[in-house]
Amino acid sequence: MALKLFNTLTRSVQEFTPLDPQKKKVGMYCCGPTVYDFAHIGNWRTFVFADLVRRTLEFSGYDVTHVMNITDVEDKIIKRVREQKTTLREFTGKFEAAFLDDLKALGCREPHQKPRATEHIAEIIALIEKLVARGVAYKAADGSVYFSIEKYRGCGCCYGQLLKLNLDEMRAGERVASDEYEKESVADFALWKARVPDDGEVFWPSPFGEGRPGWHIECSAMSIKALGETFDLHLGGEDLKFPHHEDEIAQSEGATGKPFVKYWLHGAHLLVEGKKMSKSLGNFFTLRDLLAKGFTGREVRYLLLTAHYRETFNFTLDGLAGAKSALSRIQECLSKLLEFWDNEIGEINVPIDSRDEIALKKFTEALQDDLNISQVWGVVFEWIRELNRSLAQEILSKNSAASALATWKRMDGVLGLSLSLKSALRMNEVTGVAPSGILAEVRGDEEAPPEIRSLLMQRIEARKAKDFKRSDAIRDELKAKGWVIEDTPKGIKLKKI
Ligand code: AMP
Ligand code: ZN
Repeated sequence: MALKLFNTLTRSVQEFTPLDPQKKKVGMYCCGPTVYDFAHIGNWRTFVFADLVRRTLEFSGYDVTHVMNITDVEDKIIKRVREQKTTLREFTGKFEAAFLDDLKALGCREPHQKPRATEHIAEIIALIEKLVARGVAYKAADGSVYFSIEKYRGCGCCYGQLLKLNLDEMRAGERVASDEYEKESVADFALWKARVPDDGEVFWPSPFGEGRPGWHIECSAMSIKALGETFDLHLGGEDLKFPHHEDEIAQSEGATGKPFVKYWLHGAHLLVEGKKMSKSLGNFFTLRDLLAKGFTGREVRYLLLTAHYRETFNFTLDGLAGAKSALSRIQECLSKLLEFWDNEIGEINVPIDSRDEIALKKFTEALQDDLNISQVWGVVFEWIRELNRSLAQEILSKNSAASALATWKRMDGVLGLSLSLKSALRMNEVTGVAPSGILAEVRGDEEAPPEIRSLLMQRIEARKAKDFKRSDAIRDELKAKGWVIEDTPKGIKLKKI
């Protein structure tokens, strides 16, 4: 079975075939963050979805180039730079860094390219010049350059490829200057915005006069530069279909005369406790807010990955608590398998059991079915249940444990939970104890802060020195900090309470 995805352009689930004649290379562009604040949990749903698409493509054997732009000049940013009396770079730099930290905390693979709009002004200007030369863009009396929808349509091009728009109600020549606007205001949109006093120091020289780019042209210029005039996949949240993506298509196809993107993928929105997120309702969360409540990036990722990308997802704190227990079910099974196998994961080289082969096949089929994630989880948890049964009955061979661990590694390449099989080994490295000696396992390596790891090591040392009083005192101290130590015949386990 081949990978199938819902293409907004054709409004149907289609088999994915890359443009590359060798069918190997895939270009994927995801509209990145507007760095004017910390990204919220809704934004993260979209970026985790993009990560899932990339991982699925890589799992399917494609060689993906993943590009995610950084929108570092745009209406909202300029407003805040003005309010906070700071510079553009200083202001956007801190939110960009925070975004990349959060991306990592959520287990997302880093995009191969992260172009900043402010570093592509020359490409943006060149694209606008092309549009002017082709007669589909014009300079208005205010010095700004606009895209003419009427002229574009006059060339036989289609505006409204992603959404059905009522273009008959459009009044020719009507303009919209802001970066975001409603469907009702289908109107000529700004490509280049002439400098106004409110822009402060945020402006660049151009053949059209001093000013700055509109948001939509930034993405056209950066995606074409990174991936070429026609590329495979373009992603974003559903709110970007109009005007942002529709305008990206018009600008790109208007300039190149070629189809812009083969597959458009849009992720549905996220609600919190059933409502649109808003600061006034108290249901607005950044990732940092959730980490401060004691949840981990992995738990948030898991929860965001429980719903199909085309379904509106209702995010709740109860759901997040449920994510914690679902993850520990998987982790517990993996830990048992690991104890059983008791070897370096990298060295697993055993034939794969038929149980695992079947699970992996079902896992792949579910994924290829337009990323049917609930079925994917169904397969994973059924497989975990079966493994637990065999473990409980003590009928699992050492090689079967290894086969299961290798299978999980493959599945986790897509899920990105990094439930650390290696954490046990890493702790052994830290403590200098050979894998066959004390097995000190940390449930999810990032979960154990350095202070806890250090206490664990001190306890191991105390036990080695047969200082049981000190060893017990450290155990109590860890308990007070929310961690329990279990001494098992195989070694020491550290668990979060
Ligand atoms: P922005 O930084 O505002 O440009 O948004 C970054 C990404 O987050 C875009 O792809 C948006 O479509 C997406 N996004 C914004 N709000 C939500 C939400 N509530 N649920 C899902 N995605 C969202
Ligand atoms: Zn974009």
